[in-house]
Amino acid sequence: MDKILRINMSADGGPSISEGPVGDYAGFGGRALTSMIVGQEVPPTCHPLGEDNKLVIAPGLLSGTTAAMSGRISVGCKSPLTGTIKESNSGGQAAQVMARLGYAAIVLEGRPKDDTLYKVFINKDGVKIEADNSLKMLGNYDTVEKLSAEFGKKVACISIGQAGEMKLSGASIAFSDMEQRPTRHAGRGGVGAVMGSKGVKAIVLDDAEKKMRPPKDPDKFKAANKAFVAGLKKHPVTGEGLPAYGTNVLTNVLSEAGGYPTRNFSSGTFEGAGKISGETQAALENERGGEGSATHGCHRGCVIRCSGTFYDKNGRFLSKQPEYETVWAHGGNCGIDDLDAIAQMDRVDDDYGLDTIEMGATIAVAMVAGLAEFGDAEAAIKLIKEVGQGTPLGRILGSGAAVTGRVFGVERVPVVKGQAMPAYDPRTVQGIGVTYATTPMGADHTSGYAVATNILGVGGSIDPLKPEGQVELSRNLQIATAAIDSTGMCLFIAFAVLDQPETFNALVDLLNAFYGLELTGDDVSALGQKILTNEREFNAKAGFTAEHDRLPDYFHKEKLPPHNITFAVKDEELDEVFNW
Ligand code: SF4
Repeated sequence: MDKILRINMSADGGPSISEGPVGDYAGFGGRALTSMIVGQEVPPTCHPLGEDNKLVIAPGLLSGTTAAMSGRISVGCKSPLTGTIKESNSGGQAAQVMARLGYAAIVLEGRPKDDTLYKVFINKDGVKIEADNSLKMLGNYDTVEKLSAEFGKKVACISIGQAGEMKLSGASIAFSDMEQRPTRHAGRGGVGAVMGSKGVKAIVLDDAEKKMRPPKDPDKFKAANKAFVAGLKKHPVTGEGLPAYGTNVLTNVLSEAGGYPTRNFSSGTFEGAGKISGETQAALENERGGEGSATHGCHRGCVIRCSGTFYDKNGRFLSKQPEYETVWAHGGNCGIDDLDAIAQMDRVDDDYGLDTIEMGATIAVAMVAGLAEFGDAEAAIKLIKEVGQGTPLGRILGSGAAVTGRVFGVERVPVVKGQAMPAYDPRTVQGIGVTYATTPMGADHTSGYAVATNILGVGGSIDPLKPEGQVELSRNLQIATAAIDSTGMCLFIAFAVLDQPETFNALVDLLNAFYGLELTGDDVSALGQKILTNEREFNAKAGFTAEHDRLPDYFHKEKLPPHNITFAVKDEELDEVFNW
């Protein structure tokens, strides 16, 4: 993983390919690398869909190795949704395959001179890019089927659907999973629109005849991996809860805690939670049997296996097991309590290439605007289909909750820096409110998952209903997360890493044994701080100030039942998050 592949889409005579050493970027992976390249090479005030923006795709430092959980991939650019720097993270097969092919990053640059659509193929022999307009306006499922017929069943595919081609700000980038289905997405921030603006429909990666990346110290690496896996198996969240019920194990937990944003963030409890919970979902999948009843990794090497497969009433594959945030976005947030309808929306989002969180938040805003009734699943599905059809209404909805709120005159729009809040109400989970407000990414739970400590009692315990201690909690989690996102490790390892010092040490040992380093825990924190500082510098140059690190006004004024409280962390305290 010592080279960077650059594809210049603006070059005279068609796209040009160049490869070079990582150079000054050596030692960085995943989010650290994407944010470093965007920070140094993209003008912060450029238009996100213009030729000066770059799309950077980078596996983590441990991707392509035998380290468990190391198959996450980062996508970076200036975001068309938020106008900030963006790192969007995904599972799927691509990270491992790309790392084995030797690439620390793929960078798409420039902008094509016409509307020709391209596909890129990378294998042991090199890189090819060719025009393929037969892929135009295909969904991700049809796209991957065509690529599979051409390149075989074992390749990893990175693709965009119709939403990316239309350059909509809610567009995602799909990464094929172990069954070569386009079910894993870098969803947040409209990264799919940036890929669309580069005229690239798909990147196909084939690592045939390539080997696992070898560690500098194989024995130490093996021992560290063994201790790391044992730690993950031992922890109740990573060893039991997530494998048994997937991320949707959180539906009942959050609704009971009064932190489940219901009907566009107007209540913290959803009366239909039991009908769409992880427990109900698991029972339904077991009843329908087949592949759906087995726990599942989203990439090879995952030992937590929080994923699954969702079959319809007739036993046909419909979608991956919808994640908690998706079940919330299209479920409780829209007043919908029907798992089949939610899975159908998950499938349509994945096919068009849309962020499920942004779309669920958008449909709820559209419901407030009177475009559909809360609870009407059929109407919600129809609205999403407008996006894939590219109708004027669909293009508005596909541009996200903030745009939809503006177009239809809705005041209560739950966004920060233009990005929709995920599945935790910041009034009842005040720590996550600090993260939503201050992360350089716009509202994003994965940037500093304070829910772990506020609700799940992981890494200590801080009262979720009170402002005390939330700034420090969010700060520490944002630092740790930025570092983990650079390793290629799935963020869910954080539950065990935060609670069990020996599992944290095993993670540091994995890095040291692989690269022959002597890193300490403090070095890992320093890396996290460096990444955040770099990202905030980009945002400052793009025009963002402390005033943008705020929740919408109504979270301070409107009390959320059942606890009837508002978000109480003061602005001056929010401004202290990055003072370390
Ligand atoms: S724990 Fe879940 S999200 Fe993380 S790598 Fe495994 S299947 Fe993917």
